Amino acid sequence: MWDQKHRTVIKLDLRWIKPLLLILFIFLYSLIPTSAFAIDERFTDSSADGLHSRQGTIVFKVKMLKDMSMDRHTHSLILSTSSDGSEMYDIFIIQNTIVARRYFSGCLLSAFSKNYDFKLGEWHGVKITWNGASTKFYIDNQEVPRYSLSMSHDLAKTIPEIRFAKSDAYDTGDLLVLGSSEITVDSADRTFELNATCPRLDELLKESPQEDYKGIRLLHFPDQVIRDKIKSFIDLLPEDFAGSIKGVLYVEDSRAPKTGEGGEANADTMTIILKGSYAGDPTVFFHEAAHIYDMKKHFAIGVSDDKSEWTAISGPTCYLKAANVDEFSKEFAEKHVQAGFLAPQGGECPFEDLAIWTGAAYDYYLKNQSMIDMLTPGNPKYSVKNKQKLDFLLQKGFISQNIYNKVSSR
Ligand SMILES: [Zn+2]
Repeated sequence: MWDQKHRTVIKLDLRWIKPLLLILFIFLYSLIPTSAFAIDERFTDSSADGLHSRQGTIVFKVKMLKDMSMDRHTHSLILSTSSDGSEMYDIFIIQNTIVARRYFSGCLLSAFSKNYDFKLGEWHGVKITWNGASTKFYIDNQEVPRYSLSMSHDLAKTIPEIRFAKSDAYDTGDLLVLGSSEITVDSADRTFELNATCPRLDELLKESPQEDYKGIRLLHFPDQVIRDKIKSFIDLLPEDFAGSIKGVLYVEDSRAPKTGEGGEANADTMTIILKGSYAGDPTVFFHEAAHIYDMKKHFAIGVSDDKSEWTAISGPTCYLKAANVDEFSKEFAEKHVQAGFLAPQGGECPFEDLAIWTGAAYDYYLKNQSMIDMLTPGNPKYSVKNKQKLDFLLQKGFISQNIYNKVSSR
């Protein structure tokens, strides 16, 4: 997935946590494919025949049955894809925040976020409506200010359908889907849409490789220098780890998704996708490489918490805490040393924590730096988990004995 830059991985500066988490939160959730809910009793599915891209409206009502303010998981109210498969709409609740999003025009995202104060048992009206490049979101007929209209990743291919949530935390009802909208198209939105360049990573991934290096296809690199650097990175990987990676794709900044930075691990093709300006950065390359290896081995990703070997060290489940950023920032500042989290995303998700650790280990190695402070009892940076995590990286083939020895010695 597209990740934040990990350059500040050790020197923690709390000022950037808020924007980072909010972007990460809206974005990470967006990476959960609709199909992940395919056999899910939490939804009532219906046909998307009347759900039209470019112009339409979804209206329903919601009633909270439980206080969700302490529940740090996201809870979908509706997930839907237009009848032609070209647009997606979803509305979900996390803690005291309701978020609505529309994906359209290949890679654009219009997002809304608002704190709700619904009393238990009280019905409230929810409406999302769109016309061309413009989208609006209403709660109880009050317009919610838009959080952003932005470039995003390419829209995932999903099946046209409307998935309406079922939950014991809330009741929903009176779903109405219209093929029309009363809003007008804003000219600024239209201009934004016209000027947007979608990444179209699928096209780039189909290009013929410039080189096959140790079974890894190198794609779309602008010059030999950067390709050689990537090859030097590949040379550092233990054999099994390198064998999990099928390709590395370079994407020009102008074409890379704008909502994240650095890189992406593409699960369909087991390819590392690097944004041009970060392509030579080891924290990005090895971070995304770790995601690929983890996708193959399931140490942290794609397994339930109680079966995740990494979670056994790092702590429980992948909470998207950004709805209450103040609370998360405070908790993170207090606990990150003890928990062995190198960056906020690690506190969010075990699989991110694993990737961040892998990126950090290689970065330390390449910069001739030592993690010894973090591994020495009594040092302010010490946690027993730091050693457990580094040992895990060695035992599971994320790093070689040579790298382990070097970063863990003075
Ligand atoms: Zn990541």
